[in-house]
Formats: sequence, structure tokens, C-alpha cells
Amino acid sequence: MTENTNQTRRNLLKLGSIAVAMIPMAALAAKNDAMRTAMKYKDTPEADKQCSGCMHFVPGKTPNDPGGCKLFPGDTEVSSKGFCTAWAKKP
Ligand code: SF4
Repeated sequence: MTENTNQTRRNLLKLGSIAVAMIPMAALAAKNDAMRTAMKYKDTPEADKQCSGCMHFVPGKTPNDPGGCKLFPGDTEVSSKGFCTAWAKKP
């Protein structure tokens, strides 16, 4: 086997590793665009109303990390400071 063949193989393995490493990141970060549009979601609060104070919010790892929303299936990018027309105060 020549040095060029070995280098080509190493490059292919490197590319494959990068591609595999990116799959979970793409799978984890998802937005439910249909629900966002229907509920007029935005990444900023509306006066004192924001997702972190809404009964539908599912917090992320830390208070500032994006989380989910019980009304936006599959969406993992809901901002704790976001807002939509379905906002309902946490009990
Ligand atoms: S319903 Fe709207 S305001 Fe409430 S957490 Fe979901 S996106 Fe945020």
C-alpha cells in the first residue's frame, strides 16, 4: 500500500468521523416551525410574559438554555425568554 493510499484512507476516516459526530447535534436541535408560526412565537418576551413563566415551558439544562414547549412537539429550541399567543401563567 502506498503512502498516498494511506493518507487518502485517513482523510476519509476523518471526514466520516466528523459526519457521524454531527448527526446527534442536528437531531437534537429542532424547531417546530408550523406551531411557531401558528402561535406567533418570538424569541423575546412580551412585557412581563415569557416562556420561563409559562405553564407549557419545559426548561433546558440551565435557566438560560433553550428548552421545549408542551404545545410545540419536537421543538428543542424554545427560548426561556420567548413568548407566543398560547402563553399561560405557571400555577
Ligand atoms: S406556550 Fe408559548 S409562551 Fe408558553 S412555553 Fe410554549 S412557546 Fe413559550
